[in-house]
Amino acid sequence: PVDRSPEIQEARLKLPILAEEQVIMEAINENPIVIICGETGSGKTTQVPQFLYEAGYASSNGAIGITEPRRVAAVSMSQRVAKEMNLSHRVVSYQIRYEGNVTDETQIKFMTDGVLLKEIQKDFLLSKYKVVIIDEAHERSMYTDILIGLLSRIVPLREKVDARQFPVTVHFNKKTPLDDYSGECFRKVCKIHRMLPSGGILVFLTGQAEVHALCRRLRKAFPFQKNNTAGNDDKEESVEEIRTFKKSRKRKKVMTLPKIDLDNYSVVPVDEGDEDRDAETDDDIAGSDIDLDLGDGDSEEDEKIDSSLPLYVLPLYSLLAPEKQAKVFRAPPPGTRLCVVATNVAETSLTIPGIKYVVDCGKVKKRFYDKITGVSSFRVTWISQASANQRAGRAGRTEPGHCYRLYSSAVFMDFEKFSAPEITKRPVEDLILQMKALNIEKVINFPFPTPPPTEALAAAEELLIALGALKEPPMTGRLKQQLAAKLSCPISPLGRIMATFPVAPRYAKMLALSRQHDCLPYAITIVSAMTVRELFEEFDRPAVSEEETAKLKGKKARLLQMQRIWAGQGSMQKLGDLMVMLGAVGACEYAGCTRKFCEENGLRYKAMLEIRRLRGQLTTAVNSVCTDAGLYVDPKMKPPTEAQATYLRQIVLAGLGDHVARRVQAEELLDDKWKNAYKTALLDDPVFIHPSSVLFKQLPEFVVYQEILETTKLYMKGVSVVEPE
Ligand code: ADP
Ligand code: MG
Repeated sequence: PVDRSPEIQEARLKLPILAEEQVIMEAINENPIVIICGETGSGKTTQVPQFLYEAGYASSNGAIGITEPRRVAAVSMSQRVAKEMNLSHRVVSYQIRYEGNVTDETQIKFMTDGVLLKEIQKDFLLSKYKVVIIDEAHERSMYTDILIGLLSRIVPLREKVDARQFPVTVHFNKKTPLDDYSGECFRKVCKIHRMLPSGGILVFLTGQAEVHALCRRLRKAFPFQKNNTAGNDDKEESVEEIRTFKKSRKRKKVMTLPKIDLDNYSVVPVDEGDEDRDAETDDDIAGSDIDLDLGDGDSEEDEKIDSSLPLYVLPLYSLLAPEKQAKVFRAPPPGTRLCVVATNVAETSLTIPGIKYVVDCGKVKKRFYDKITGVSSFRVTWISQASANQRAGRAGRTEPGHCYRLYSSAVFMDFEKFSAPEITKRPVEDLILQMKALNIEKVINFPFPTPPPTEALAAAEELLIALGALKEPPMTGRLKQQLAAKLSCPISPLGRIMATFPVAPRYAKMLALSRQHDCLPYAITIVSAMTVRELFEEFDRPAVSEEETAKLKGKKARLLQMQRIWAGQGSMQKLGDLMVMLGAVGACEYAGCTRKFCEENGLRYKAMLEIRRLRGQLTTAVNSVCTDAGLYVDPKMKPPTEAQATYLRQIVLAGLGDHVARRVQAEELLDDKWKNAYKTALLDDPVFIHPSSVLFKQLPEFVVYQEILETTKLYMKGVSVVEPE
């Protein structure tokens, strides 16, 4: 308990941050990283350390560390907090480069960012600290930036250290299913639920559709009747016929199970069929007659309906509405078992309470980019050993847990040790532009922790030259020298402006060109919408009942009707999908950007809120570059005029100049595969307008596209019309 003087207490109560204490502490308790924003003087620096102290974050084995970019702040804030808390400087202390008053009783320590950076060099996990606060992070001081980079690596490692408190027993399948891993997940969950003691189940699948399908199947198998309907996504499954059946408990010998050492990744699995190992039972299994190994899921009874065992099944994936995501953090209804069916988001970003069993399909869905063309596709691949261990660790957060891997130990041993860093996987033009803006010209020589592939660097450099963000190299010498020269082009004045906009360079270029004809508000909106992506709800999913099929059909028809309206008339229509985005945002803002409006018109509420935030941010950025623009975000934005719509198409073309496609001419139609196809400069294969595009039926001669996504074919998304002059 903290003994504050009445005057201090009175002053504290006037601070706005005091009203937020509970929200802030809940966020900190539930998340590895929390960002707190508030006005100057609201009490961030002086109060947050006190909140943490009072919540028990400081103890004999770990202090609260706070970094400040300036020495004077570190010293004075430590004094102020000590005074407010009525504690000695031996407990609330500071350390700056040349001096400090830290003792071994110190529980709250203010320091400069440079001091913490030095400490990381000696103790990478920062094990002295229970929590670290980076104050004034928005200033982006150089040391603070480096600290944030390092902490992003340290935080996941520290989490693993925490998880070690509870052992996780890993069970491998004997056989690896060829493709039906969803079915295997279903059978495994059924077995766990029927045969194993209480505790939540977390299932890792790869995508939204799979998650929904498994949820539906599980709810059908273990119906859960709700007295009061809280969430509408649970209602959709009703079960007409309820049968009960005898539980089958096929006993097997309790087997020795390999344990994960979460300190390093050296999981040495023992072969599943091998039952001759020394029996060494986990605390959790001791005294139990239940076989926790379960075997591969091949029981035939699993599809039968069992109403005696309610399972509370919840989906979790990144596009799920936040209020539905939040359900997984609440306790399941009494007498039920929680089962969360998730995508990879549950691997690191979120910690779900009460999970004791993890079912891991071993796969992940990721976006892959072609290094040169930038064409992207989503592919399902095996995860890395590090990911598999991270997933397993999710079972041991609150008590000893079990992880069921639906693949054999031999398959696991063939996994990559670690997942490849993102920088090696995606286009890097935004990164290169930022580096050039820091006057790092010879990007190829930069000491990246893992360098991007040279082809990706070259493609980025070329694109930035084409956009005018970098100065063209003098074309002399041989090919190799040309390439080298290209990878060291300096930034242009236009490039500097582009670098101040927090969006992809192609979109930054559009903003930089939009001053004429009062086009900036429209360009900002289009760029925001293209950056946020996935504005519209997806209604093309399999339904369980005829009633649901009809509901989805109705919603889709409504969305298509609205999209036709948002597409506008005349010149606007030629903006195609970009006009649909502009119209959708305009209409949504006009209606006050409410959840109701979004739900009624097939818009994703979360996306609309993100677009709103990005519009605000880009408007501020544009105003700071051209101080006379005087822009503001107008909730009642009028549709663009004919002239503006025409100019907007030119702007879009300037940013996406290499994304032009031409309809294949009749005489070129040698092969059926070229029917309705387009040709691009980058690809030999035919590309097509995506069926969701408003231009899908129109098939204009020339189009410009936002991106190409490869599914069954190469599809252009975000399409608008180009008219050759
Ligand atoms: P923030 O970090 O959000 O800018 P602070 O926690 O630094 O806010 O300050 C919160 C309040 O405490 C302010 O009203 C400030 O005037 C007051 N305060 C901070 N330091 C002192 C001090 N040394 N003496 C008196 N009041 C102080
Ligand atoms: Mg402050």
